[in-house]
Amino acid sequence: MGIRQRLSRFAARHMGCRWLPLQKGRGVVSFSFDDVPASACHTGAVLLELYQARGTFYVCGSLTDGVEQNQPCHSVDDLKRLIETGHEVGCHTFSHTNCANASDADLALDWEKNQAFFKQHGIHNQGFAFPFGAYDLGSKLAAGRRFSYARITGGGTQTGRADLYALKAQSLYSSKTNVDELHALIQHTASAGGWLILYSHEVSDNPGPWGTSPALLETALRLATQEGCHLLPVHRAIDYFLS
Ligand SMILES: [Zn+2]
Repeated sequence: MGIRQRLSRFAARHMGCRWLPLQKGRGVVSFSFDDVPASACHTGAVLLELYQARGTFYVCGSLTDGVEQNQPCHSVDDLKRLIETGHEVGCHTFSHTNCANASDADLALDWEKNQAFFKQHGIHNQGFAFPFGAYDLGSKLAAGRRFSYARITGGGTQTGRADLYALKAQSLYSSKTNVDELHALIQHTASAGGWLILYSHEVSDNPGPWGTSPALLETALRLATQEGCHLLPVHRAIDYFLS
């Protein structure tokens, strides 16, 4: 990362923040799926439901009925079923845009395209996740004007307070998640009354580098339940911390 990009990231991290206090006593773990392979809607959602949990699915309209990383993506019917069963469907830009590189005008157009896609299918949403976790101050401020929150990637659990327009998230990838570290993170979330947002992509017995196996997802669900955390989709977690 060059100095200009580092300065831009620094500004985005420290400016345009809207703080959500995390002071309810009980910790929250949220499960999210980006790009939304079909397996996340099927295996992933069913596993969550087994634990009385609901998740958040960040959709790029350009991927609907498509294939990404050799994984078949969600269909419109998949998204409708998710909503009917209480999951959250959020926006991830239409074209999986890198928001830190896009011009304001291009980004606005891309968001509008995705929102038009949702509207066409009667899907209402207000949440957003930055593709690649990439953002700068301009895109963070623009996201703040358009969405009720924005999620980034990285940063682990959040305690004390969370920036609504740069919510941290921890990857749940079979290729790199260590179960002992995950357990420690969930324990810390529970003991500090914090908020851990996990994110992954496909849920498959043979996941790629950015996916999870059903076994790892179930381990995370079991540990979060065992440690006494609430399991809430991102928008419901915000309601909980604001209540
Ligand atoms: Zn993505």
